Amino acid sequence: MKKILVLGAGGFIGSHLVKRLKSEGNWVRGVDLKYPEYSKTLADEFIIGDLRDQQLVNKVVDVPFDEIYQLAADMGGAGYIFTGEHDADVMHNSATINLNVLERARIIGAKKIFYSSSACMYPAYNQTEPNNPKCSEDSAYPAQPDSEYGWEKLFSERLYLSYNRNYKMDVHIARFHNIFGPEGTWKDGKEKAPAAICRKVAMVKDGAEIEIWGDGKQTRSFLYIDECLEGVARLMNSNFSGPVNIGSEEMVTIDKLVEMVAKISGKEIKIKHISGPLGVRGRNSDNKLIAKELGWKPTKKLEDGLAVTYKWIEQQVNA
Ligand code: NAD
Repeated sequence: MKKILVLGAGGFIGSHLVKRLKSEGNWVRGVDLKYPEYSKTLADEFIIGDLRDQQLVNKVVDVPFDEIYQLAADMGGAGYIFTGEHDADVMHNSATINLNVLERARIIGAKKIFYSSSACMYPAYNQTEPNNPKCSEDSAYPAQPDSEYGWEKLFSERLYLSYNRNYKMDVHIARFHNIFGPEGTWKDGKEKAPAAICRKVAMVKDGAEIEIWGDGKQTRSFLYIDECLEGVARLMNSNFSGPVNIGSEEMVTIDKLVEMVAKISGKEIKIKHISGPLGVRGRNSDNKLIAKELGWKPTKKLEDGLAVTYKWIEQQVNA
């Protein structure tokens, strides 16, 4: 039985990760500002606390855990990240968490640490075309992320890599590309495109119109939560530090995403394009490196993950 610490265990990915780690028979301590919103945590111990506070970090990282997963971050979808209104908080809060946690993990002699970076760290200039964005791991430099959220991720990747270089810490870094699934944020401004679209479709009648930010031709790929956790597990069980993409290569336009959700709902949906925060024009995961290093690629089609997610969001809307 491994002793594992999950930071950000009250969040979307963290709460699913705790479930998986518990199902594998590990002992898990979770830490977050809040409990998971949609189901009871399965962690053996759950500490409510603020990881910007070094005292709290010292308290929760009190033994050399077999594995630490650092998922805590000040984050959200385009409506949170790209308006510019939260830039100082995003940079200060997430960088402080990473500085605090990593230094404490070093002092305590943590055996292995995972860090969740994001595809948002890739340069904007490689993502101006909807049809051929470039997001291979080696395209990160010269750096030009299009948000402060992306810059902080890039800084923190480098922080983890320098602790690996100078202190021989066993770090593993993934660049997540749009993870979605049940029990993810679906309203109130921090939700991402798949959840927002599922909510909008679930709330209207057959034949109605929903609003979509932009012209709908912007592209993205989306990875179902269970696939993401499988990728993380393989990365943690390898000797590979990364950074490596964990995402899907099934790229779709946002209009296509709406079409898929509409089909799942059984409703006919019309789209009204309005202006809104957008991020880059096109983005897709590039899975060559993960295939080479870990022999892994996602197995589920976007439509299958969306069907499960739509059903869950429909239940929330009607609750
Ligand atoms: P989330 O917002 O659901 O989870 C993050 C958790 O961190 C939240 O529960 C939040 O309360 C907690 N947190 C924030 N500040 C804290 C603090 N000061 N002290 C303690 N806890 C704090 O997000 P998520 O989707 O589960 O993402 C997890 C990680 O993966 C994040 O680092 C995120 O940047 C990264 N990521 C996610 C995606 C995605 O598509 N979901 C994509 C790229 C990267």
